[in-house]
Amino acid sequence: MGTQSRVVENVPKGIYVAGEWRDASGGGGFWVEDPGTSKRLCQVADGQAEDAASALDAAVDAQTEWAATPPRERGEILRRAWQLMTDRVDDLAMLMTLEMGKSLAESRTEVTYAAEFLRWFSEEAVRIEGRYAEAPAGGSRLLTMKQPVGPCLLITPWNFPLAMGTRKIGPAVAAGCTMVVKPAQLTPLSMLQLAELLAEAGLPPGVLNVVPSSSAGKTVGPLMSDRRLRKVSFTGSTPVGKSLMEQAAQNLLRVSMELGGNAPFLVFGDADLDAAVDGAVIAKMRNNGESCVAANRFHVAEDVAEEFAAKLAEQLGAMKVGHGAEEGTQVGPLIDGDQRDKVTELVDDAVGKGATVATGGSAAAGDGYFFTPTVLTEVPESARILSEEVFGPVAPVTTFGSEEQALALANGTEFGLVAYVYTQDLRRALRVAEGLQTGMVGLNTGMVSNAAAPFGGVKASGFGREGGVEGIAEYLSTKYVAVSMG
Ligand code: NAP
Repeated sequence: MGTQSRVVENVPKGIYVAGEWRDASGGGGFWVEDPGTSKRLCQVADGQAEDAASALDAAVDAQTEWAATPPRERGEILRRAWQLMTDRVDDLAMLMTLEMGKSLAESRTEVTYAAEFLRWFSEEAVRIEGRYAEAPAGGSRLLTMKQPVGPCLLITPWNFPLAMGTRKIGPAVAAGCTMVVKPAQLTPLSMLQLAELLAEAGLPPGVLNVVPSSSAGKTVGPLMSDRRLRKVSFTGSTPVGKSLMEQAAQNLLRVSMELGGNAPFLVFGDADLDAAVDGAVIAKMRNNGESCVAANRFHVAEDVAEEFAAKLAEQLGAMKVGHGAEEGTQVGPLIDGDQRDKVTELVDDAVGKGATVATGGSAAAGDGYFFTPTVLTEVPESARILSEEVFGPVAPVTTFGSEEQALALANGTEFGLVAYVYTQDLRRALRVAEGLQTGMVGLNTGMVSNAAAPFGGVKASGFGREGGVEGIAEYLSTKYVAVSMG
């Protein structure tokens, strides 16, 4: 059996509840497709509301004992899971490439990045601290302790099938929370494989439960109003995030929201242009452009814009497009036909309004959902691509005159996840970084993601932070104890 069929064959395909793999109630399943061939890979149990309820029952049952498990033990389970992921990077990467499309090299990078969250939070598990203080008026003492929030619902998107999971699961496990995970319908396999791996690393039954489903709203809706649930952490689109916020309000759940982006990439006239082009390729093309931190629009100083666009077009035009599992592929397919159609629509809209195609510009023919890496220049302000998340390998380039204009363009969006800035002037770099309305800034770099850093946005990109020392705080409550010394 080849590696591709073996990794698909080996994935558990059920609902994972209380340490056991079950069929879905009703016995149904849904198909998972390879976006590089548009052919079916396998079927997965189609979780229903009853399955989500059983998963929450299991999480609630496990919560007290799990919270009392020594932090070092929780940390060591995460550390073992990091090791297992690291040992199995090739198989995990192949599975991810098959269900999501990105190149094997990119999948390996994601597996490593995803595993890093487990290692990072294995180290944070033993650093959960409280405070002890004398009351300002003297007499009593003020004691604070951190406790796990309780059972959590973790909902993840398809674009990073493992990393968007581990940056929630890692801190939840470290904090002593139990959880129900709802992976994306398009890419459930990596998460199911991770559940098995975490069990092998020693995670007790009931701490992590996984419910794949083809009807997200119907399946997790009832959980959102279940008073035993204490938190929801969501990564996905802004409209779904808003709807979950409304539901969370009724149950007063703790909420973390990692939502959409529309990242500006600013290149000033004093930038190292070659470095800016290299950074732009990373910020644009990582994950086929299907990343919330993907540079969505390039605003370049007038005097260097032509050269920047020409160099970017040369690099993007030379990238090898193909099935993610093929040797040498740099750009894989988009996730599905809808996504390819949306990218096509945004490019056509821009071109229709006067943009010039410097390279690419259209979907590729044949099986799979491919779109050619594209650079558009002279993109008019009215083009939808400048205000909507494109989620594909398309780089629209526009120009600016002054620093003020650059900042105004960058901030002229409802989103605020990340911005990239290329300049060699330190004072300008800091001024612009301070002025950007985003949760993160890449300064002379096209890559901000790091398990040790707080990832998250402002405005319509959501709130809450994943990774860094901030990441575990999302899963902890502060309890204050007033101590009488009288
Ligand atoms: P999505 O449609 O919002 O889906 C995300 C997850 O929510 C999936 O598991 C989905 O299930 C589930 N879902 C959909 N409707 C739901 C409902 N009514 N109730 C509960 N769950 C529901 O987003 P996507 O298309 O998968 O992901 C792309 C988006 O994610 C982009 O906007 C991107 O910017 C954002 N993103 C943000 C970050 C960040 O950290 N800020 C990171 C990565 C991606 P189904 O799969 O079954 O629909």
